[in-house]
Amino acid sequence: MTDSDDAVWMAAGGARVEGSLATAARYETPMLPGTEQVTPAVHAVPDAPADQSPAGPDQNPAALAPPTAPGPVSPAADPAPPAADVAPRPIDNSVAGSLSPSLRATRGRDPEPAPLASHGPATVLAMCNQKGGVGKTTSTINLGAALAGYGRRVLLVDLDPQGALSAGLGIASHELDHTIYNLMLEPSTQLTDVLVPTGIEGVDLIPANIDLSAGEVQLINEVGREHTLTRALKPLLHAYDYILIDCQPSLGLLTINALTCAQGVIIPLAAEWFSLRGVHLLVDTIEKVQARINPDLAVAGVLVTMYDGRTVHSREVVGMLDQRFGDTVYDTIISRTVKFPETTVAGEPITSYAPTHPAAQAYRALAREVIAR
Ligand code: ADP
Ligand code: MG
Repeated sequence: MTDSDDAVWMAAGGARVEGSLATAARYETPMLPGTEQVTPAVHAVPDAPADQSPAGPDQNPAALAPPTAPGPVSPAADPAPPAADVAPRPIDNSVAGSLSPSLRATRGRDPEPAPLASHGPATVLAMCNQKGGVGKTTSTINLGAALAGYGRRVLLVDLDPQGALSAGLGIASHELDHTIYNLMLEPSTQLTDVLVPTGIEGVDLIPANIDLSAGEVQLINEVGREHTLTRALKPLLHAYDYILIDCQPSLGLLTINALTCAQGVIIPLAAEWFSLRGVHLLVDTIEKVQARINPDLAVAGVLVTMYDGRTVHSREVVGMLDQRFGDTVYDTIISRTVKFPETTVAGEPITSYAPTHPAAQAYRALAREVIAR
C-alpha cells in the first residue's frame, strides 16, 4: 500500500461507515487534493487539559474558521489531473453532526447510564489499529475503568505480546506462568489460572507476555485458527458486560482472532495526518472478516486520540474523519496530555489517578457513548 492508496481511499470516502462496516457506496468522483474544503467539526471535547496552554481557539468555536486550503494533508505522491477536469465534491450535509457544531455538542451529552440489575452477556469490543502509538492500550485501560465506574463488569484482554496492557495495570506479566497464550493454545488451562484482578473494582484482566508471539506462529497450524480466541473467551461471556481486547499493532492472526470474536471494533486514531495512513487497509480487513468469518462484526466507533486543539492540523484531521466516517466518529475526543504517560508509570487508569482531570472526564464521556450506542 502506498501513500497515494491512502489518499485516494480517504478522498473517495472509502471509510464512510455509519454504525456498520465500510460497505456504503464509494463516491463516484475521487476527491483530489485542493478540490475540497474541510470544515473542522467541534466535538463535545471536555475542557482542555490543564497542561495545555495557552488556550487555543478551541475555547471559542466561532474562532474555528474553515481552512482555506487542504492544509498539510495532501500527499505529494498523489498526481493531480488538471483542475478543470475535477468537479468539487459536494459536502454531504446528511452526515449527522459532521458539519454541525451544535448537533455534535448536543450529541456529546449522553445520559448517566442506568445501573444494571444483572450482568452479561458481554459485548466484545476489539481496540484495533495496526499502527502503534495511537492510544489503543491507553484507551483499553481507561475506557474499561470508566465502564466499571458505571457499574459494568469489564474484562480486559491483552492480545499484544508486548504486554503493555498488563504493564499499564501494574501487572508484571513476564513473571506469570499463565497468560492468554495458555488459554488460547493449551486446552487444559483453567480460566481461574489466567484471570487476574486489577486494582480497579469491577475490572479483570487476562494478561499477555512475550509467549504470545510464539503463539501467533503456533496458531497457524490450529484447526479453526481464527476462532481460537472466541473459543477461549466463550465461557466468560456471561460474567461480564464488556470485554475489551487490546490488539497488537498488526493485522496478523492475533488481530484476526480479536475481530472474529468481537461484535464491535473501536478504532483509535491519533489526530494527525500520518495516523490516517493505512486506515483503508484496516477497514478492508474488517470488511473481509465480516464477510467471511464474523457477520456480526461492525465498526463500533472511531476514537480520536492525542488531539491538540491548538493546532489547525489536529482540527483538520478531525474534520476529515468526520467527513469520511460520519456518525461513527465518537463525539468524545481524547486530548493530548502528559497525564497519560504519568498514569502508565503509576500503573493505574486516569479515572483513579486524576479523577477530575479533563482526560478522565473524556473517558467517562466515552464510556457513556459506548453504553448508549
Ligand atoms: P498503542 O497501544 O496504540 O500503541 P498507547 O496507548 O500505548 O498506544 O500509547 C502510546 C503512548 O502514548 C504511551 O506512552 C501513552 O502513555 C501515550 N498516550 C496515549 N494517549 C495519550 C494522550 N491522549 N495524550 C498523550 N499521550 C498519550
Ligand atoms: Mg498497545
